[in-house]
Amino acid sequence: MTAPTPGARRRGRFAPSPTGPLHFGSLVAAVGSFADARAAGGAWLVRMEDLDRPRVVPGAADAILRTLDAFGLHWDASVAFQSRRTDAYAAAIEQLARQGRVYPCGCTRREIALGALPGAEGPIYPGTCRHGLPPGRAPRSLRLRAHGPALGFVDRIHGPQRQDVARAVGDFVLRRADGLHAYQLAVVVDDAAQGITDVVRGADLLLSTPRQMRLQACLGLSQPTYAHLPLVLAADGRKLSKSQADLPVDAAHPLPALLRAWAVLGQAPPPAAPDGVSAFWDWALPHWDMGRVPARNGPCGNMTTA
Ligand code: GLU
Repeated sequence: MTAPTPGARRRGRFAPSPTGPLHFGSLVAAVGSFADARAAGGAWLVRMEDLDRPRVVPGAADAILRTLDAFGLHWDASVAFQSRRTDAYAAAIEQLARQGRVYPCGCTRREIALGALPGAEGPIYPGTCRHGLPPGRAPRSLRLRAHGPALGFVDRIHGPQRQDVARAVGDFVLRRADGLHAYQLAVVVDDAAQGITDVVRGADLLLSTPRQMRLQACLGLSQPTYAHLPLVLAADGRKLSKSQADLPVDAAHPLPALLRAWAVLGQAPPPAAPDGVSAFWDWALPHWDMGRVPARNGPCGNMTTA
């Protein structure tokens, strides 16, 4: 695993979960991360976050890659698949366990929900199994002891952020009761393994960042910069979801959705309608300005992408 060296070429990434075709909200994340990396002359990688096998839809990863290609979002290196990285996640848990940071937890979600205070993202784990499994309980998941100083970072769009992970979230899951490794662990291990210097992704993950920073610190990994892009919400205020096939994007007619995504990112429109996707990118990359990306979520109303 190689940490990026200072001054090295910047590396961004797009990390979709292949739970359905790419929807407009993910397209915005893909366009923002691609533009940011490429405008800086950096590399842009794609990683399929197909860890949650029960939610993975057969064929969705290929469909997402074909769509990215049609939108001129051409990636470097080969696509990484989290489903092939189990050994790396297990090694990270071992490293954390050697520090006394990991413990087995026998609680069910229901038990936690009943006995916990509400936190930044769901119930705060009350620490029931922190000092050992209660008698008669079998281990289900593995958790990280989340204690440590409050973590701060400067989001490139949202500005200074701060969270005391232990108080706001509690000890969090590294390996789930179904044996799958948790997103928070996998994303940290993979961003480091792929040498990612700049994470640009949806604002729904802003509150996850301090957990990822705690893991980076414990694992001795360098910390990328973070930028959390506006979420595109459905007309009823829900986050768009691939599994619900919200606003799929039409790979056969990429330009309208590309221009729409560019506008959601607060970027100035091209002076004239571009003559195709590559003409759009030739114009767009020198004009990309992270400073224009709005620090809010954009409802898409009855937006269509055509
Ligand atoms: N796989 C996540 C998603 O599709 C993105 C994770 C990330 O960018 O850190 O929402």
